[in-house]
Amino acid sequence: MRFSGLRVLREGLTGNKGWTPHWRDPEPKAEYDAIIIGGGGHGLSTAYYLAKNHGMTNIAVLEKGYLGGGNVGRNTTIVRANYGLEGNSQFYSHSLKLWEGLEQDLNYNAMMSQRGVLMLCHSDGQRDAFARRGNMMAAQGDDAELLNVDQVRHLLPYLDFDNTRFPIYGGLLHRRGGTARHDAVAWGYARGADQRGVDLIQQCEVTGIDIEQGVVMGVQTTRGPIRARKVGMVVAGRSSQVAAMAGMRLPVESHVLQAFVTEGIKPVIDHVISFGMGHFYISQSDKGGLVFGGDLDFYASYAARGNIPMMEHVMEAGMTLMPMIGKAKVLRSWGGIMDMTPDGSPIIDKTQTEGLFLNCGWCYGGFKAVPASGDAFAHLIATGEPHEAAAAYRLDRFRSGYGLMDEEATGSQHNLH
Ligand SMILES: Cc1cc2nc3c(=O)[nH]c(=O)nc-3n(C[C@H](O)[C@H](O)[C@H](O)COP(=O)(O)OP(=O)(O)OC[C@H]3O[C@@H](n4cnc5c(N)ncnc54)[C@H](O)[C@@H]3O)c2cc1C
Repeated sequence: MRFSGLRVLREGLTGNKGWTPHWRDPEPKAEYDAIIIGGGGHGLSTAYYLAKNHGMTNIAVLEKGYLGGGNVGRNTTIVRANYGLEGNSQFYSHSLKLWEGLEQDLNYNAMMSQRGVLMLCHSDGQRDAFARRGNMMAAQGDDAELLNVDQVRHLLPYLDFDNTRFPIYGGLLHRRGGTARHDAVAWGYARGADQRGVDLIQQCEVTGIDIEQGVVMGVQTTRGPIRARKVGMVVAGRSSQVAAMAGMRLPVESHVLQAFVTEGIKPVIDHVISFGMGHFYISQSDKGGLVFGGDLDFYASYAARGNIPMMEHVMEAGMTLMPMIGKAKVLRSWGGIMDMTPDGSPIIDKTQTEGLFLNCGWCYGGFKAVPASGDAFAHLIATGEPHEAAAAYRLDRFRSGYGLMDEEATGSQHNLH
């Protein structure tokens, strides 16, 4: 089934009876060439690129819940390539290019909206840091514009520019950044993988990893054992638990990150805006709701819901930045489990077990990484070699300290990422 404007029109006129399910619901086979654990954004994109780029179609994605029920369907949908450090910069630049062709590639409307991401600065030092970051982005071939306060005022007149504590000095605008509809991204990759023969198996929790003499042999699941000589772990906030099944202890802590949405209001915010003096970011959804979030809940947890003190902290930051949002009613809040690494950067690597691969550590920024992460992880699983855009994401950097990519310069303090 292909989507097109004509098809939508025809179905609309004939009662929408011709649509077929996006993917099959297969029984697990006894053996696959490769198994991907985790049906989130990264697991599904990995399966898609394994099939599309490497011709590996005898593979399965095993998901303990339903496809897209994890963080990929819980995030605030921001997509950007405004990272400054060598290693991250190339990777996110590659990801944004994949985003730009994604809807055509998947034949799926992911509602990609390059509305611009504007990071605000509130001090001379911060403006200097943004100038440096902008130069690094430009050197990488991505777009960046340093705006003065009048230029920001022209774009976003409703901000509190003269706040006594946090006056706005300007901002760094990244026009190619924006948002994409998060669950549609998961569905689009799932559909694309399924069309290429990948088995997407839901309600199938991996409970053990079978290893014999240092070589992976398959997995144990709630739907029985499944054999495979290649297994990829892509389970975001559950990474430490799943890796422990292979005897690994990861440099990852799981923390809750919350997000919020208000009632729908008329179009008012046409960018993604981030407040530089507190962790707060906001955009407006196509339905009109203001979607916003802030800091992690500062304790390790596997609960996919957060606590009231962090809600208060986020609302305070929002009110400081744009007091007008105090009039909007918050409809919902929710949480997701973040896999936080000490340097805030991810891991895409082999493990000490032959055939067992690891993809994790996306912290609170892994949605924008979904295309490049899948591309790079598929490359690693299929060829055994790191993808050039993700070569820096080695697990051993935490042992040696060499090659750490600490974008926010917050060191190993998860609560400061
Ligand atoms: C509130 C919030 C806001 C965010 N905002 C942004 C943003 O604006 N921009 C951005 O780039 N990133 C953002 N993120 C981060 C981003 O969503 C995550 O980094 C990314 O989605 C994680 O990768 P994933 O999609 O593969 O994870 P998930 O969707 O969580 O996928 C992992 C899957 O593994 C499954 N699983 C776990 N254990 C097992 C098992 N034993 N067996 C089988 N399956 C298992 C889970 O059920 C889950 O479906 C945000 C996250 C949250 C929670």
